[in-house]
Amino acid sequence: MKKLILHRVIATLGLAVLAFACWIAAGLLSDRMVQQEMTATVRTERQMAASIVDNMAQIIASDLAMSRAIPATLAQMDLTQRALAESRNYASNPGETELERRSDWTAHPALAKVNHFLHEAQGFSGLDSIWLVNDRGYCIASSNAADDDSFIGYDMSARAYVSRALLGGFVEMYGVGRLSGEPGIFIAAPAYEDGILVGAVIAKVSIDRLRHWVSRAGTFVTDENGVVVMAHDGRLEYEAMPDAPVARMTERERVEHYRRESFPELRVSHIGEQMRASEQWLAPALAQSFYAANGSNTPSLYDERTGLNSGLSAHIVHPLTSWPEISRNHSRDRFLVFLTMLGIVTLAIVIATSYSRERRLHRATRDLAEQLQSANTLLSAEARHDALTGALSRRYFLDTLRHEVELARSVGTPLSVAIADLDHFKQINDRFGHASGDRALEHFVEVCRAQLRPSDAIGRLGGEEFGILLPQTSLADAQAVLERLRKRFHHEHCAHLPEDAALSVSIGITELAPDDALEWILSRADLALYEAKSRGRDRSEVRPADPTPPARHTEDSLAGK
Ligand code: GH3
Ligand code: MG
Ligand code: MG
Repeated sequence: MKKLILHRVIATLGLAVLAFACWIAAGLLSDRMVQQEMTATVRTERQMAASIVDNMAQIIASDLAMSRAIPATLAQMDLTQRALAESRNYASNPGETELERRSDWTAHPALAKVNHFLHEAQGFSGLDSIWLVNDRGYCIASSNAADDDSFIGYDMSARAYVSRALLGGFVEMYGVGRLSGEPGIFIAAPAYEDGILVGAVIAKVSIDRLRHWVSRAGTFVTDENGVVVMAHDGRLEYEAMPDAPVARMTERERVEHYRRESFPELRVSHIGEQMRASEQWLAPALAQSFYAANGSNTPSLYDERTGLNSGLSAHIVHPLTSWPEISRNHSRDRFLVFLTMLGIVTLAIVIATSYSRERRLHRATRDLAEQLQSANTLLSAEARHDALTGALSRRYFLDTLRHEVELARSVGTPLSVAIADLDHFKQINDRFGHASGDRALEHFVEVCRAQLRPSDAIGRLGGEEFGILLPQTSLADAQAVLERLRKRFHHEHCAHLPEDAALSVSIGITELAPDDALEWILSRADLALYEAKSRGRDRSEVRPADPTPPARHTEDSLAGK
């Protein structure tokens, strides 16, 4: 009972350890699976982000190239160059206001022509406005000359793009219009006449016209100072990249340039380490590529293309939308792998156990069959032999006799048969005891074995009566052999019997007749034995082959009394 409980405890512990090992292995396997899935996803998403940002860079470059072409071309034209050169003649008086200058210059026929031309050019170019600034920084002509908020007459020399263009540089920069308050890209091309700088042609394309740059989610564009000038998510506009140059500008510069002072920092930061804290399977190299923008929990990939025209940069914060699903799948995969492994292990145990049980059963069956075989062999040996004397059993002796009769008939050889009965055996028993009687019976069989040939057979027909079979032996030869045997039995003392125990045997002998029946032979031998008994015992009598049924035949002789 105690042993059974111990076995159960050991089996339960073994199963628990196995289940634990499966759980650990399932963890390792599912970690690997999710890592592979994540690596593949990140690779695909990174390509996607890169292609979006590349596409943005291309569109920005081609849009700006077109916008740039107009002022560059206008700066080469006689009309503009002459207007700018002649603008020296419209030098303003220091006390004159912008409105006074505007009405003076707008009314000037030469400039009106230029205004008209600029207006036409703006119409087909897709630019917001085009204007001319003379070498002192005054706007002398503009595509919006007819509007109330026309630029004409304004002193624009303080604008960075104007001052830089008047120094001979081709300028392209982001800025917020001082008059319109609208952000846009300013493009300024210096204009020369006879090699002398006479002013600049300025064009502006508003940010609103360029919004298609950020049509994809997560995209935004920064200017040369790291300020977000347009973003798919409008809330990001005017935020600044971490450590952007705008932070180092003076307040005045910021106001001049952007019409505002504060630029909150855009929150794009690495979140790999935080993610690894909750998802330990995440490989450090993979985690490094994860960013989060503006407090969002969704890990995103970040990519940028810097140094584009106008000092612009294109950026994308590309969220990994499949992240929650991958993370969920990881837990589910671990559980599924665990169940599968546990199933396989259990199946293996069941197969191994039933196999070993089957082997044991097979061995037991084989042992049992062997035991049965040897028992059968023993039984059949016992059935063939008499247990006490070792002579053939009655049934086996009769079978042997039947067989020998057939053989003798087919071959045509003689066959003799005898029945021997110990004399006054009852008295031996009575005088010396039943055990001594048994020894006497054994002794008789021993003497027979010593006197007869190995091919002869001796069987115990019952009690102290024995049948003797002598194949290939004539009646005369048989009598000689059996006489010798009888005498031997009479004279040879049995060591196990008292000195005064005298043993003798009477023998009836006959020979096989041509058409004999089995029972006739035995009856003849029996008759001969009867004669030997009645003629005084310790003798043998013969009964020759007689083809007719014998006169005295008792069933007893066959039944062994
Ligand atoms: P007869 O000379 O006429 O043959 O006389 P008998 O005494 O030998 O013949 P009877 O048939 O009267 O007695 C046979 C006895 O043999 C009776 C029986 O007790 C004894 N006997 C039969 N089988 C065995 C045996 O296996 N062992 C012993 N010890 N005695 C046996
Ligand atoms: Mg008898
Ligand atoms: Mg007897």
